[in-house]
Amino acid sequence: MTAHILDGKAFAANLRAKVVTHVARLKADHGILPGLAVVLVGDDPASQVYVRSKGKMTVEVGMQSFEHRLPDTTSEADLLALIASLNADPAVHGILVQLPLPAHLNSDLVINTIDPAKDVDGFHISNVGLLGTGQKAMVPCTPLGCLMLLRDHHGSLSGKHAVVIGRSNIVGKPMAQLLLGDSCTVTIAHSRTADLAAMVRQADIVVAAVGRAQMVPGDWIKPGATVIDVGINRVTNDDGSTRLIGDVDFDSCRAVAGAITPVPGGVGPMTIACLLANTVTACSRANGLAEPEGLTV
Ligand code: NAP
Repeated sequence: MTAHILDGKAFAANLRAKVVTHVARLKADHGILPGLAVVLVGDDPASQVYVRSKGKMTVEVGMQSFEHRLPDTTSEADLLALIASLNADPAVHGILVQLPLPAHLNSDLVINTIDPAKDVDGFHISNVGLLGTGQKAMVPCTPLGCLMLLRDHHGSLSGKHAVVIGRSNIVGKPMAQLLLGDSCTVTIAHSRTADLAAMVRQADIVVAAVGRAQMVPGDWIKPGATVIDVGINRVTNDDGSTRLIGDVDFDSCRAVAGAITPVPGGVGPMTIACLLANTVTACSRANGLAEPEGLTV
Protein backbone atom coordinates (compact mmCIF):
# COMPACT_ATOMS: atom_id res chain seq x y z
CA MET A 1 0.00 0.00 0.00
CA THR A 2 1.19 3.53 -0.71
CA ALA A 3 -0.51 6.10 1.45
CA HIS A 4 -2.66 8.91 0.14
CA ILE A 5 -0.80 12.19 0.70
CA LEU A 6 -2.77 14.70 2.76
CA ASP A 7 -1.83 17.91 0.97
CA GLY A 8 -1.78 20.54 3.70
CA LYS A 9 -0.39 23.15 1.34
CA ALA A 10 -3.39 22.89 -0.99
CA PHE A 11 -5.87 22.63 1.89
CA ALA A 12 -4.33 25.72 3.54
CA ALA A 13 -4.56 27.69 0.27
CA ASN A 14 -8.23 26.78 0.11
CA LEU A 15 -8.74 27.83 3.74
CA ARG A 16 -7.01 31.16 3.08
CA ALA A 17 -9.33 31.70 0.11
CA LYS A 18 -12.30 31.21 2.47
CA VAL A 19 -10.72 33.75 4.83
CA VAL A 20 -10.45 36.24 1.94
CA THR A 21 -14.15 35.79 1.19
CA HIS A 22 -15.15 36.30 4.83
CA VAL A 23 -12.91 39.36 5.19
CA ALA A 24 -14.42 40.91 2.06
CA ARG A 25 -17.93 40.21 3.40
CA LEU A 26 -17.11 41.75 6.80
CA LYS A 27 -15.89 44.89 5.03
CA ALA A 28 -18.73 45.14 2.51
CA ASP A 29 -21.64 44.23 4.79
CA HIS A 30 -20.48 45.64 8.13
CA GLY A 31 -17.61 48.05 7.44
CA ILE A 32 -15.33 45.95 9.65
CA LEU A 33 -11.66 45.26 8.93
CA PRO A 34 -10.28 42.34 10.96
CA GLY A 35 -6.89 43.08 12.56
CA LEU A 36 -4.18 40.81 13.92
CA ALA A 37 -1.45 42.08 16.26
CA VAL A 38 1.74 40.05 16.56
CA VAL A 39 4.18 40.77 19.36
CA LEU A 40 7.81 39.64 19.09
CA VAL A 41 10.23 40.13 21.97
CA GLY A 42 13.91 39.66 21.17
CA ASP A 43 15.70 38.66 17.99
CA ASP A 44 15.40 34.87 17.78
CA PRO A 45 15.96 34.24 14.04
CA ALA A 46 13.29 31.52 13.66
CA SER A 47 10.71 33.70 15.47
CA GLN A 48 11.59 36.63 13.21
CA VAL A 49 10.90 34.49 10.14
CA TYR A 50 7.55 33.30 11.58
CA VAL A 51 6.47 36.84 12.51
CA ARG A 52 7.40 38.21 9.09
CA SER A 53 5.46 35.53 7.27
CA LYS A 54 2.43 35.91 9.58
CA GLY A 55 2.37 39.67 8.86
CA LYS A 56 2.71 39.12 5.11
CA MET A 57 -0.10 36.56 4.97
CA THR A 58 -2.36 38.70 7.16
CA VAL A 59 -2.08 41.52 4.63
CA GLU A 60 -2.48 39.11 1.69
CA VAL A 61 -5.91 37.97 2.91
CA GLY A 62 -7.02 41.61 3.24
CA MET A 63 -6.71 42.02 7.01
CA GLN A 64 -4.83 44.65 8.98
CA SER A 65 -1.49 43.61 10.45
CA PHE A 66 0.02 45.24 13.53
CA GLU A 67 3.59 44.23 14.31
CA HIS A 68 5.22 45.05 17.63
CA ARG A 69 8.92 44.22 17.81
CA LEU A 70 10.42 44.77 21.24
CA PRO A 71 14.04 44.41 22.40
CA ASP A 72 14.93 41.31 24.46
CA THR A 73 15.58 43.64 27.42
CA THR A 74 11.85 44.55 27.54
CA SER A 75 10.50 44.45 31.08
CA GLU A 76 7.48 42.36 31.99
CA ALA A 77 5.61 45.51 33.03
CA ASP A 78 6.17 47.09 29.59
CA LEU A 79 5.06 43.93 27.77
CA LEU A 80 1.93 43.62 29.93
CA ALA A 81 1.15 47.30 29.29
CA LEU A 82 1.40 46.73 25.53
CA ILE A 83 -0.96 43.75 25.78
CA ALA A 84 -3.41 45.81 27.84
CA SER A 85 -3.41 48.49 25.14
CA LEU A 86 -4.00 45.88 22.40
CA ASN A 87 -6.83 44.36 24.48
CA ALA A 88 -8.46 47.80 24.56
CA ASP A 89 -7.89 48.59 20.86
CA PRO A 90 -11.10 47.98 18.84
CA ALA A 91 -9.09 47.65 15.59
CA VAL A 92 -7.28 44.61 17.01
CA HIS A 93 -9.33 41.39 16.96
CA GLY A 94 -6.50 38.92 17.44
CA ILE A 95 -3.34 39.09 19.55
CA LEU A 96 -0.45 36.67 19.23
CA VAL A 97 2.66 36.78 21.39
CA GLN A 98 5.40 34.87 19.61
CA LEU A 99 6.88 32.14 21.81
CA PRO A 100 9.35 31.40 23.23
CA LEU A 101 9.75 34.59 25.23
CA PRO A 102 13.12 35.57 26.75
CA ALA A 103 13.70 33.73 30.03
CA HIS A 104 13.09 36.75 32.29
CA LEU A 105 9.48 37.00 31.11
CA ASN A 106 6.75 34.79 32.59
CA SER A 107 5.05 33.29 29.52
CA ASP A 108 2.00 32.04 31.43
CA LEU A 109 1.39 35.47 32.94
CA VAL A 110 1.86 37.17 29.57
CA ILE A 111 -0.48 34.79 27.72
CA ASN A 112 -3.10 35.00 30.44
CA THR A 113 -3.08 38.79 30.20
CA ILE A 114 -4.41 38.61 26.62
CA ASP A 115 -8.18 39.10 26.39
CA PRO A 116 -9.40 35.48 25.85
CA ALA A 117 -11.68 36.72 23.06
CA LYS A 118 -8.59 38.00 21.19
CA ASP A 119 -6.40 34.99 22.05
CA VAL A 120 -6.10 33.64 18.51
CA ASP A 121 -3.42 31.14 19.58
CA GLY A 122 -5.91 29.57 22.00
CA PHE A 123 -3.33 29.34 24.79
CA HIS A 124 -5.15 31.46 27.43
CA ILE A 125 -6.25 29.37 30.40
CA SER A 126 -9.90 30.29 29.69
CA ASN A 127 -9.70 28.93 26.17
CA VAL A 128 -7.96 25.79 27.41
CA GLY A 129 -10.83 25.30 29.86
CA LEU A 130 -13.51 26.02 27.28
CA LEU A 131 -11.97 23.54 24.83
CA GLY A 132 -11.59 20.92 27.57
CA THR A 133 -15.24 21.24 28.53
CA GLY A 134 -16.49 21.15 24.94
CA GLN A 135 -17.53 24.81 24.85
CA LYS A 136 -16.95 27.42 22.15
CA ALA A 137 -13.27 28.40 22.42
CA MET A 138 -10.45 29.89 20.45
CA VAL A 139 -8.78 26.67 19.30
CA PRO A 140 -4.96 26.41 19.03
CA CYS A 141 -3.94 26.72 15.39
CA THR A 142 -1.78 23.63 14.83
CA PRO A 143 -4.22 21.09 16.32
CA LEU A 144 -7.09 22.89 14.58
CA GLY A 145 -5.31 22.43 11.26
CA CYS A 146 -4.68 18.75 11.99
CA LEU A 147 -8.36 18.19 12.83
CA MET A 148 -9.47 19.91 9.63
CA LEU A 149 -7.21 17.62 7.58
CA LEU A 150 -8.49 14.54 9.43
CA ARG A 151 -12.16 15.48 9.02
CA ASP A 152 -11.63 16.26 5.37
CA HIS A 153 -10.09 12.85 4.77
CA HIS A 154 -12.29 10.68 6.99
CA GLY A 155 -15.56 12.51 7.36
CA SER A 156 -16.53 11.16 10.78
CA LEU A 157 -13.74 10.29 13.23
CA SER A 158 -16.18 8.67 15.67
CA GLY A 159 -14.95 5.45 17.28
CA LYS A 160 -11.44 5.63 15.87
CA HIS A 161 -8.50 5.03 18.17
CA ALA A 162 -6.16 8.03 18.02
CA VAL A 163 -2.71 7.99 19.56
CA VAL A 164 -1.21 11.44 20.07
CA ILE A 165 2.53 11.30 20.71
CA GLY A 166 3.45 14.39 22.73
CA ARG A 167 1.67 16.15 25.61
CA SER A 168 2.65 19.79 25.11
CA ASN A 169 0.13 22.52 25.89
CA ILE A 170 0.36 23.90 22.36
CA VAL A 171 -0.04 20.70 20.34
CA GLY A 172 -0.45 17.35 22.12
CA LYS A 173 -3.03 18.20 24.79
CA PRO A 174 -5.35 20.37 22.66
CA MET A 175 -5.07 17.82 19.82
CA ALA A 176 -6.24 15.12 22.21
CA GLN A 177 -9.16 17.31 23.34
CA LEU A 178 -10.25 17.94 19.76
CA LEU A 179 -10.09 14.25 18.87
CA LEU A 180 -12.04 13.39 22.00
CA GLY A 181 -14.59 16.03 20.98
CA ASP A 182 -14.96 14.16 17.69
CA SER A 183 -15.60 10.91 19.64
CA CYS A 184 -12.24 9.25 19.05
CA THR A 185 -10.85 6.99 21.74
CA VAL A 186 -7.69 8.91 22.60
CA THR A 187 -4.37 7.82 24.02
CA ILE A 188 -1.79 10.49 24.85
CA ALA A 189 1.76 9.13 24.74
CA HIS A 190 4.90 10.88 25.95
CA SER A 191 8.51 10.27 26.87
CA ARG A 192 7.58 7.97 29.77
CA THR A 193 5.10 5.83 27.83
CA ALA A 194 5.98 2.16 28.16
CA ASP A 195 6.28 0.30 24.84
CA LEU A 196 5.37 3.22 22.61
CA ALA A 197 5.68 1.03 19.50
CA ALA A 198 2.94 -1.35 20.72
CA MET A 199 0.74 1.62 21.64
CA VAL A 200 1.13 3.26 18.23
CA ARG A 201 0.43 -0.05 16.42
CA GLN A 202 -3.12 0.03 17.84
CA ALA A 203 -3.89 3.42 16.35
CA ASP A 204 -6.25 4.20 13.48
CA ILE A 205 -4.90 7.77 13.70
CA VAL A 206 -1.38 8.69 14.78
CA VAL A 207 -0.48 12.32 15.51
CA ALA A 208 3.26 12.74 16.08
CA ALA A 209 4.19 15.97 17.90
CA VAL A 210 7.49 15.10 19.50
CA GLY A 211 10.30 17.18 17.99
CA ARG A 212 12.54 14.16 17.26
CA ALA A 213 13.44 13.65 13.62
CA GLN A 214 12.02 10.47 12.04
CA MET A 215 11.32 8.90 15.43
CA VAL A 216 8.28 6.91 14.26
CA PRO A 217 9.22 4.10 11.83
CA GLY A 218 6.85 2.39 9.42
CA ASP A 219 6.73 -0.83 11.43
CA TRP A 220 4.95 1.05 14.26
CA ILE A 221 2.06 1.90 11.93
CA LYS A 222 -1.06 -0.23 11.62
CA PRO A 223 -1.72 -0.92 7.93
CA GLY A 224 -4.14 1.68 6.58
CA ALA A 225 -3.78 4.07 9.53
CA THR A 226 -3.71 7.84 9.06
CA VAL A 227 -0.47 9.54 10.10
CA ILE A 228 -0.34 13.26 10.93
CA ASP A 229 3.24 14.50 11.27
CA VAL A 230 3.43 17.73 13.25
CA GLY A 231 7.20 17.64 13.69
CA ILE A 232 9.46 20.28 12.18
CA ASN A 233 13.10 19.30 12.53
CA ARG A 234 15.88 21.06 10.66
CA VAL A 235 18.67 18.68 9.69
CA THR A 236 21.96 19.31 7.89
CA ASN A 237 22.68 17.63 4.56
CA ASP A 238 26.11 16.27 3.58
CA ASP A 239 26.82 19.43 1.58
CA GLY A 240 26.10 21.67 4.59
CA SER A 241 22.69 22.85 3.39
CA THR A 242 19.67 22.17 5.59
CA ARG A 243 16.22 20.69 5.12
CA LEU A 244 13.10 20.11 7.20
CA ILE A 245 11.96 16.65 8.19
CA GLY A 246 9.16 15.42 10.40
CA ASP A 247 8.81 13.23 13.46
CA VAL A 248 7.88 10.20 11.36
CA ASP A 249 10.04 8.34 8.91
CA PHE A 250 8.06 9.36 5.84
CA ASP A 251 9.16 6.68 3.38
CA SER A 252 8.63 3.66 5.62
CA CYS A 253 5.39 5.04 7.10
CA ARG A 254 4.03 5.94 3.67
CA ALA A 255 4.46 2.32 2.59
CA VAL A 256 2.11 1.11 5.36
CA ALA A 257 -0.26 3.98 6.17
CA GLY A 258 -3.54 4.73 4.44
CA ALA A 259 -2.89 8.48 4.49
CA ILE A 260 -0.01 10.66 5.64
CA THR A 261 0.99 14.32 5.82
CA PRO A 262 4.36 15.24 4.29
CA VAL A 263 6.94 17.56 5.87
CA PRO A 264 7.13 20.19 4.56
CA GLY A 265 3.73 20.80 2.98
CA GLY A 266 1.50 19.06 5.53
CA VAL A 267 0.64 20.50 8.93
CA GLY A 268 2.97 23.51 8.68
CA PRO A 269 0.98 25.55 6.13
CA MET A 270 -2.24 24.76 8.03
CA THR A 271 -0.99 26.50 11.16
CA ILE A 272 -0.74 30.00 9.68
CA ALA A 273 -3.95 29.53 7.68
CA CYS A 274 -5.73 28.60 10.94
CA LEU A 275 -4.28 31.68 12.65
CA LEU A 276 -5.87 33.85 9.95
CA ALA A 277 -9.11 31.87 10.24
CA ASN A 278 -9.10 32.32 14.04
CA THR A 279 -8.69 36.08 13.61
CA VAL A 280 -11.80 36.23 11.44
CA THR A 281 -13.66 34.04 13.93
CA ALA A 282 -12.59 36.32 16.81
CA CYS A 283 -13.61 39.42 14.83
CA SER A 284 -17.04 37.97 13.99
CA ARG A 285 -17.67 36.97 17.61
CA ALA A 286 -16.52 40.37 18.90
CA ASN A 287 -19.08 42.03 16.64
CA GLY A 288 -21.92 39.67 17.56
CA LEU A 289 -22.04 38.20 14.05
CA ALA A 290 -22.71 34.59 13.02
CA GLU A 291 -19.78 32.16 13.14
CA PRO A 292 -17.93 32.37 9.80
CA GLU A 293 -18.56 29.10 8.00
CA GLY A 294 -15.70 26.63 7.53
CA LEU A 295 -13.13 28.48 9.63
CA THR A 296 -13.34 26.66 12.94
CA VAL A 297 -14.65 23.50 14.60
P1 NAP B 1 7.46 19.93 23.07
O1 NAP B 1 6.80 20.96 23.89
O2 NAP B 1 8.94 19.78 23.14
O3 NAP B 1 6.79 18.52 23.44
C1 NAP B 1 7.31 17.33 22.92
C2 NAP B 1 6.54 16.18 23.48
O4 NAP B 1 7.12 14.98 22.95
C3 NAP B 1 6.62 16.07 25.01
O5 NAP B 1 5.34 15.81 25.53
C4 NAP B 1 7.57 14.89 25.24
O6 NAP B 1 7.24 14.09 26.35
C5 NAP B 1 7.33 14.06 24.00
N1 NAP B 1 8.49 13.22 23.73
C6 NAP B 1 9.79 13.58 23.67
N2 NAP B 1 10.57 12.52 23.42
C7 NAP B 1 9.75 11.45 23.32
C8 NAP B 1 9.94 10.09 23.08
N3 NAP B 1 11.15 9.58 22.90
N4 NAP B 1 8.87 9.29 23.05
C9 NAP B 1 7.63 9.78 23.24
N5 NAP B 1 7.36 11.07 23.46
C10 NAP B 1 8.42 11.90 23.51
O7 NAP B 1 7.14 20.09 21.52
P2 NAP B 1 5.86 20.76 20.78
O8 NAP B 1 5.92 22.21 20.96
O9 NAP B 1 4.61 20.02 21.11
O10 NAP B 1 6.26 20.45 19.27
C11 NAP B 1 6.42 19.14 18.80
C12 NAP B 1 6.94 19.18 17.37
O11 NAP B 1 5.98 19.82 16.57
C13 NAP B 1 8.25 19.96 17.19
O12 NAP B 1 8.99 19.37 16.13
C14 NAP B 1 7.77 21.32 16.74
O13 NAP B 1 8.73 22.02 15.97
C15 NAP B 1 6.58 20.93 15.91
N6 NAP B 1 5.56 21.97 15.77
C16 NAP B 1 5.10 22.18 14.53
C17 NAP B 1 4.11 23.11 14.32
C18 NAP B 1 3.60 23.30 12.93
O14 NAP B 1 3.07 24.34 12.63
N7 NAP B 1 3.72 22.30 12.06
C19 NAP B 1 3.59 23.84 15.39
C20 NAP B 1 4.06 23.57 16.67
C21 NAP B 1 5.04 22.62 16.85
P3 NAP B 1 7.39 14.64 27.88
O15 NAP B 1 6.22 15.54 28.10
O16 NAP B 1 7.32 13.39 28.69
O17 NAP B 1 8.71 15.34 27.95
